[in-house]
Amino acid sequence: MSCRRFFSIPVLSVILVMGFVYYVTLFVFIDDWVGLQSSAGKLNALLFSFLASLCLFSLSICVLVDPGRVPASYDPDVEDSGWSNSNATETRKCDKCFAYKPLRTHHCRVCRRCVLKMDHHCLWINNCVGYANYKAFFILVFYATVASIYSTVLLVCCAFKNGDSYAGNVPLKTFIISCGIFMIGLSITLGTLLCWHIYLIAHNMTTIEHYDSKRASWLARKSGQSFRHQFDIGVYKNITSVLGPNMIKWLCPTFTRNPEDAERIRAVDALKQDGGLQELDDSPVSVELGPICGESHFDQVMEEAQKLGESVVIVWMAAWCRKCIYLKPKLEKLAAEFYPRLRFYHVDVNAVPYRLVSRAGVTKMPTIQLWRDGQKQAEVIGGHKAHLVVNEVREMIENDSIS
Ligand SMILES: [Zn+2]
Ligand SMILES: [Zn+2]
Repeated sequence: MSCRRFFSIPVLSVILVMGFVYYVTLFVFIDDWVGLQSSAGKLNALLFSFLASLCLFSLSICVLVDPGRVPASYDPDVEDSGWSNSNATETRKCDKCFAYKPLRTHHCRVCRRCVLKMDHHCLWINNCVGYANYKAFFILVFYATVASIYSTVLLVCCAFKNGDSYAGNVPLKTFIISCGIFMIGLSITLGTLLCWHIYLIAHNMTTIEHYDSKRASWLARKSGQSFRHQFDIGVYKNITSVLGPNMIKWLCPTFTRNPEDAERIRAVDALKQDGGLQELDDSPVSVELGPICGESHFDQVMEEAQKLGESVVIVWMAAWCRKCIYLKPKLEKLAAEFYPRLRFYHVDVNAVPYRLVSRAGVTKMPTIQLWRDGQKQAEVIGGHKAHLVVNEVREMIENDSIS
């Protein structure tokens, strides 16, 4: 926690605006409307004070909480690596911190560090909005919108009641009109920001990801496909991943840790627990996967297999991908089961031209494909437990030999 973040002009301005709105709402709008001593006045003042304190509380959390630091022990995880180019290793390493960064992590130039699930750097809270304070930020916008709409309504009630008495008092009339313009402007601004973040939460997107996905979405539309954001897991799940699983606590700004996200960061440890491989590990025989080092080599392999009327298994992997490294020896044992009538090859996607990877339609690591007559017949995407992947590959091979 850093209290120093409070001492910035924008943060102090926000607090000042909050104080001003609170003061005029209670001592001008409510007081001139029904009187602060009346029961209606007391009730409105109490409700508004409650809202204002929730705003202040949420603001404090946004400012004080660390938005999410990449753990020093973090190692590139591969559980759900959605890499899309041959420079995947580079893009997952920050070129400013020189450290690996998990998915959805971005480097903030203002904070001079990488921030987990970074949304944007917010001047008004003098902090990044990221993994740990996004919910507080959203809740702050929510309460601030409700409070400013509430204050505007009270102002309108007050102006209607005292319209005649204000007519003779020019300075007071000017002040009320200025307040009205300010409150309506504030309500519209905050309301728009709130709608924008509701949209982002419903799609499980960050502001950065929204701008990044614009091109992908345009390309998808152009080719007549519908675009779905990589982390979009359905509206309800998207909402609970930010606001927490308990609906009662949705409006509480304190952060609800999402076990899935934490799991992703600790994915390397999770891999170690990946059991159920004993039956395969017991088999002493394994056949090394033949390396394919380029497009012409790939064509040569295909041609030879075609001449012999054989199928070929191509394993697409990345040197940086732990899931791939983990899977490789299991596939070598599987290769032994089918040796020599079926050959297994592996391609390091970072070592071959991207053209070959895109020709094979590989988008995820690791991908295991079955090719015959120079055509891709079937594929298994191996993002899950290794023994299940091996079983699926075996099934794919057996289905192929039946047909
Ligand atoms: Zn960085
Ligand atoms: Zn920042």
